[in-house]
Amino acid sequence: MSHVFHRNPKMDLPTAVGGQGMELIDSNGKRYIDASGGAAVSSLGHGHPRVIKAIQDQVAQLAYAHTSFFTTQVSEDLADLLAAAAPGDLNHVYFVSGGSEAVEAALKLARQYFVEIGQPQRRHMIARRQSYHGNTLGALAIGGNAWRREPFLPLLVQAHHVSPCFAYRERLDGETDSAYAQRLADELEAKILELGPDTVAAFVAETVVGATAGAVPPVADYFKRIRAVCDKYGVLLILDEVMSGMGRTGYLFACEEDGVVPDLVTIAKGLGGGYQPIGATLCTDRIYDAIVGGSGFFQHGHTYIGHATACAAALAVQQTIVDDGLLDNVRARGEQLRGELRAALGDHPNVGDIRGRGLFVGVELVADRATKATLDPARKTHAKFKARAKDNGLLLYPMGGTVDGVRGDHVLLAPPFIASPADIGRIVDRFAQTL
Ligand code: PMP
Repeated sequence: MSHVFHRNPKMDLPTAVGGQGMELIDSNGKRYIDASGGAAVSSLGHGHPRVIKAIQDQVAQLAYAHTSFFTTQVSEDLADLLAAAAPGDLNHVYFVSGGSEAVEAALKLARQYFVEIGQPQRRHMIARRQSYHGNTLGALAIGGNAWRREPFLPLLVQAHHVSPCFAYRERLDGETDSAYAQRLADELEAKILELGPDTVAAFVAETVVGATAGAVPPVADYFKRIRAVCDKYGVLLILDEVMSGMGRTGYLFACEEDGVVPDLVTIAKGLGGGYQPIGATLCTDRIYDAIVGGSGFFQHGHTYIGHATACAAALAVQQTIVDDGLLDNVRARGEQLRGELRAALGDHPNVGDIRGRGLFVGVELVADRATKATLDPARKTHAKFKARAKDNGLLLYPMGGTVDGVRGDHVLLAPPFIASPADIGRIVDRFAQTL
């Protein structure tokens, strides 16, 4: 009997014993193509020599020093790299150990910012339905799946939800991208007015929606219009790029493609590429200055903030992405992946949509391609599909599922950025075989 308490204790899992490049190997010697990079984590694949060396060197020199007493060169270097790459004046980097922690830090930075500037009544958070922001209680409160929140009600954060930007499903007949984006911006404005503009702290959204919807990008002008509404009412914009950031979409920060600068942005997963647990929250000068010039103390903290070994791994991962020109590869291989999936499956009666940005690709499974009728949710087709894919040596994103408990059954692919054209071909072959 296993004593490790997994998320799904009844599941009988194979034992992973090794990882090389695009592949994972289990104790029976079976090899799997890691087409989801774990959970959109392994941006450089497995066993990357440069990252291994960076971790070994850092551990040998200094594994960890508490940030109440010291900074470290490696955390400063990583923060410099991130601040230089981030759009606008997202110049200040708060390190944490993962995605949920990054979201908690963003929510608390937003709240504390308003306390510092004398508006403590701004405490409401507005987020979107069908979003995922993490499993800690604050992140859960803003997350957009009611069924995930249900067992833990009442939640600690006052969160409210508006519609996500799912043009492929929720656009009205004949509605242009621009009209659709405006309709959603109007909905946000109405929600702010309903709550009272001087009580709203922030609007939170995933730049490209990941786990709950399967790599759904926004329409072109969506975030610009959302930004305008936030600015009109002094509401902060928090973009959650825990999954879509750090190169996954072909840009280090996914929002670069949308032409917006949020007030806060969260990153994790691809930051450490799976080699170490690490995340971060970046904020603009305005937020940082209000805290430093105000109470001078961010009322938050975790033991492993700025962990030197985690920072060393992340620095090596991010430098490799730049030095090896991997963002170009993400864009090219992403085009190839969507193109080959469409060629192989686009006519399949059970494929409703193939979408995404970069190496962040979702495939919607439907009962009928023409009407986009949804599959019976009780059949849990996505789960069966993932299990069958795993039998076929293909690892897809572990969660996936329906968008709202009923519609939008999908699976998600997020292969490592090192994928070659031949690797993408193999992924498409195994996907088609599974379907
Ligand atoms: N935000 C988003 C957008 C995510 O996709 C996730 C993880 N799937 C999280 C937050 C939470 O990250 P973690 O699991 O590292 O806590």
